[in-house]
Amino acid sequence: MSGSTPMMRQYLEIKEQYPDAILFFRLGDFYEMFLDDAVTASRVLDITLTSRNKGAAEEVPLCGIPYHSCQPYIARLVEQGYKVAICEQVEDPKAAKGIVRREVVRVVSPGLVVDTDTLEPKENNYLLAVAAGRPGRFGLAVVDITTGEFSLTEVSEPEGLRGELLRFNPREVLLATGEEGEALRKELAGILDGRRVEWLPDWVLAPDRAEGALRAAFDDAPLEAFGCAGLTGAIRAAGAVLYYLEETQKGLLPHLRPPTTSQGGDFMVIDEATRRNLELTATLHDGRRKGSLLGVLDRTVTAMGGRLLKHWINQPLLRIEPIQARHEAVAELVERSLLRDELRTALDGVYDLERLNGKISMAHANAKDLTALRASLERLPGLVELLAECESPRLIELRRNIDPLEELCALIAAGIVDDPPFVLRDGGIIRDGFNAELDELRAVSREGKGWIARLESQEKERTGISSLKVRFNKVFGYYIEITRSHLARVPEDYQRRQTLANAERYITPALKEYEEKVLGAEERLTQLEFDLFQGLRRQVAAEGARIQATAAALAELDVFTALAELAHERDYVRPEMDESGDLEIREGRHPVIEAMSLSERFVANDLLMDTRENQILIITGPNMAGKSTFMRQVALIVLMAQMGSLVPAGSARIGVVDRIFTRVGASDNLARGQSTFMVEMTEAANILRHATPRSLIVLDEIGRGTSTFDGLSIAWAVAEYLHDVPEVAAKTLFATHYHELIDLALTRERVRNYNIAVKEWNEQIIFLRKIVKGGASHSYGIQVARLAGLPREVIDRAREVLKNLESGEFEGEGEPRLARGKGRKKAAASPQLSLFESAADPLRQRLAELDVQCLTPLQALNLLDELKALV
Ligand code: ADP
Ligand code: MG
Repeated sequence: MSGSTPMMRQYLEIKEQYPDAILFFRLGDFYEMFLDDAVTASRVLDITLTSRNKGAAEEVPLCGIPYHSCQPYIARLVEQGYKVAICEQVEDPKAAKGIVRREVVRVVSPGLVVDTDTLEPKENNYLLAVAAGRPGRFGLAVVDITTGEFSLTEVSEPEGLRGELLRFNPREVLLATGEEGEALRKELAGILDGRRVEWLPDWVLAPDRAEGALRAAFDDAPLEAFGCAGLTGAIRAAGAVLYYLEETQKGLLPHLRPPTTSQGGDFMVIDEATRRNLELTATLHDGRRKGSLLGVLDRTVTAMGGRLLKHWINQPLLRIEPIQARHEAVAELVERSLLRDELRTALDGVYDLERLNGKISMAHANAKDLTALRASLERLPGLVELLAECESPRLIELRRNIDPLEELCALIAAGIVDDPPFVLRDGGIIRDGFNAELDELRAVSREGKGWIARLESQEKERTGISSLKVRFNKVFGYYIEITRSHLARVPEDYQRRQTLANAERYITPALKEYEEKVLGAEERLTQLEFDLFQGLRRQVAAEGARIQATAAALAELDVFTALAELAHERDYVRPEMDESGDLEIREGRHPVIEAMSLSERFVANDLLMDTRENQILIITGPNMAGKSTFMRQVALIVLMAQMGSLVPAGSARIGVVDRIFTRVGASDNLARGQSTFMVEMTEAANILRHATPRSLIVLDEIGRGTSTFDGLSIAWAVAEYLHDVPEVAAKTLFATHYHELIDLALTRERVRNYNIAVKEWNEQIIFLRKIVKGGASHSYGIQVARLAGLPREVIDRAREVLKNLESGEFEGEGEPRLARGKGRKKAAASPQLSLFESAADPLRQRLAELDVQCLTPLQALNLLDELKALV
């Protein structure tokens, strides 16, 4: 290859610096791709693959796309997880001596998309770096370049790391090459699937370098200002993110907000499995937003609000004051329906200020983006005025944080026409009166065009040729066209330029003089307009921090009004918050199921849990009774309360919860397709390691993934452990189909039994959906099977078998009676034992072996002692 053309050599040199990207190499009006890139791109983009030097020994695969419509192609490649390096001609080809200089001006990858049209408005597009911190700790840095959001976190457990990754759901993850990155990749197994991983050289993450980069990015601020001093992992991750941005954005860095840092202890911990099980932002079965908690709660009218709401759901608070401040704001807006409506109407016209600002700061915004910014800013004085009536402290604070940026608004209004074109290079953007030189040029151009327009009628009159036309083309400029039949009447001063089949084209010196004026002015005009526009855009970009602050306030206001709207519509109440550790919910409902179920009215249920008497609630009841629904609704109500929302209940008193855990027994959770029992047990182990007395645990039929004996034993032991070990004595809701667990309440003082009531009627069951005290006496499995439409014959036989089982009798050889009847073959089953009764009970065995007749009184006493020891 090296022996080929100079251009190809240039290509290869540049490509060498971007081995893992698809290089878009600008050639005139096209971006060309060569070699492997061409093969890949032609396949992904479905465009024709050709080649240079066709047939020659050094055939070079090649494909290309027109530069002016490259966006969708880039978007498609990035969507598929590729990275694209855009290489432009960086000098005027006419001015170039030899080969035109080319440089990569920007790199686009899944985490670096700036073309926001291809992004989901209500979703952030995150780029995330992970780095090891002090022993046992992990740091994360997260950036959304389209909004400027930048945050740092440190967590202390691999589970926490996985939870964070799932929470942010980044499109692209940065890791260091070498051992560290490899170890992290293993830690994140499964979670990195479907995300692009970028490997950075490990020196980038050196603590000193990273710290320097972080400080330099924000006016050399001390790390204390970001709350991350001493958090090596977070700082190293921040260094990685900043390095990657610099390498790829080539000077047009997004306007990042100074990072905020969170650590364990700031937010409720929700691990990976719990996030999935509770379907917080996506459903389990199809991963979509619709049908998730977010789907139900989201009534926001702006994209900014939509993204913030998702944050809140993902990150419920722990401290009572800020939680109550949110409740108060929402409650006030529930009360004041008129104000709420007006606020929502006003917010509805506000565009995505965060992303507009991002585009502006990266010089990616067009004139329409600036008018959108202006239209949004124009709404703000009205909004501020509406908020003047508000009384809750948080709303008052928001009002103060909304900066209407009047001078910026006025600047855009003065500079840019109301409905500018998308294209920046063709003029028509800047308003008359904004710039004197521009006005003058426009006047010249207008005048010239007017003169030329008048020329046609003048010349028609002078020559008497009614078909005379003044026309324009790119080659000859303006000319006068006269058809062949009138050539005799052409005046002396016309100069012939071109002869056509049936016409001649002429110019006159005056025409050329005006033409020069017009064309000169127009060329100047478009350039000047473009310059003026860029100047304006820079002026706006300089106010990025103010725009961001205002955007943040608007987003929060949107979330408050949206939560209020929902609370009003669905009749939610403001929960009472305290540190008691109690949960007392009256008439609680499941926010999602209540919103979805059309056929059945949702039945509300009460709950009382605390750390003194009602720590573990064992919930029994047949399949389909509503156990899972009830337990999830409790978890969701707690979570909603702590994110600042009102809750679907008649009343609620919530002692703040530090973590929520939910585990679903294997067969309820086949979607994940892993070795289910192992997963279940790993998750259970995680709970037992991390639960605290302030946690809430939801165990839904755990132990299902294995044999009955194993499952029941494990379930029993887990419940005992949660009860007996003070450090992990969390409030626990435990749904089970093992009725034997009911007996736990006999020996464990803080265990309570509940069941979900059903009524038997005509051999059928009716689900009452009411949770009541006490354990369910049996499981109604057969009735449920019947409901499900199993054949009559099967149902009858099942009843027969059940009777045998329940009578607990066995045949002489230990064959269970359930095998009897209907002339079936004898099954070679082992004796069925009642649960918890070991076959080899040593006590029994010892007694059975005993010959009482031969015992002396002393032996008898000793034996008693020995038996006692066995007990
Ligand atoms: P289980 O876990 O006991 O098998 P589920 O909680 O899965 O039962 O509930 C089964 C179905 O019953 C749910 O999908 C829901 O449609 C309905 N359901 C559950 N609880 C209620 C309720 N309180 N009110 C109305 N319908 C309910
Ligand atoms: Mg269930």
